[in-house]
Amino acid sequence: MKFSRLRLTGFKSFTDPTDLHLEPGLTGIVGPNGCGKSNLVEAMRWVMGESSYKNMRASGMDDVIFSGSANRPARNSAEVTLFLDNKDRTAPAVLNHEDELEVTRRIEREHGSVYRVNGKEVRARDVQLLFADASTGARSPAMVRQGQIGELISAKPKQRRLILEEAAGISGLHSRRHEAELR
Ligand code: ATP
Ligand code: MG
Repeated sequence: MKFSRLRLTGFKSFTDPTDLHLEPGLTGIVGPNGCGKSNLVEAMRWVMGESSYKNMRASGMDDVIFSGSANRPARNSAEVTLFLDNKDRTAPAVLNHEDELEVTRRIEREHGSVYRVNGKEVRARDVQLLFADASTGARSPAMVRQGQIGELISAKPKQRRLILEEAAGISGLHSRRHEAELR
């Protein structure tokens, strides 16, 4: 699977529907301070199931909704869709017949988030597992935050093991084993 497009509507500074096309190879995002570069990366983490508003530089999850500007009123919902190209047929079995996956997270003010995969409502957990199995996800080392390389160098062996497990593609399995043990 490959990320092919990110669509944001009402997410942080992106009031109007905005599409970011991710072509094969390297994509660079450049622009002046405060133009929304970090917001784009946060939108990617958010749609993959980030549950901590602190990791979104917010003081509540509703803060990801466009809060208005001098000439635009605030919105009451935000939606982010991540499009994944599955022509290489590497999606999990139940989704593997699809050429493209559309993963959407939508938040309504004071009503929390709803997730959909190709139009069908799913749990946050399903989306988190989908990306964990693909060795990516909101908390995975595939998303490198500012300051994270420094943290990696001073990490304890246990934390470093988690990074290796993620790279080996087995963190989704650990998650499922943990859920099975809780039942
Ligand atoms: P830098 O180069 O300084 O890292 P950046 O391009 O990464 O900047 P961001 O941090 O992505 O910029 O964007 C910050 C902007 O997003 C600020 O102007 C802030 O007001 C705006 N913003 C954040 N949350 C919201 C929101 N809920 N509603 C409207 N605007 C928001
Ligand atoms: Mg930034």
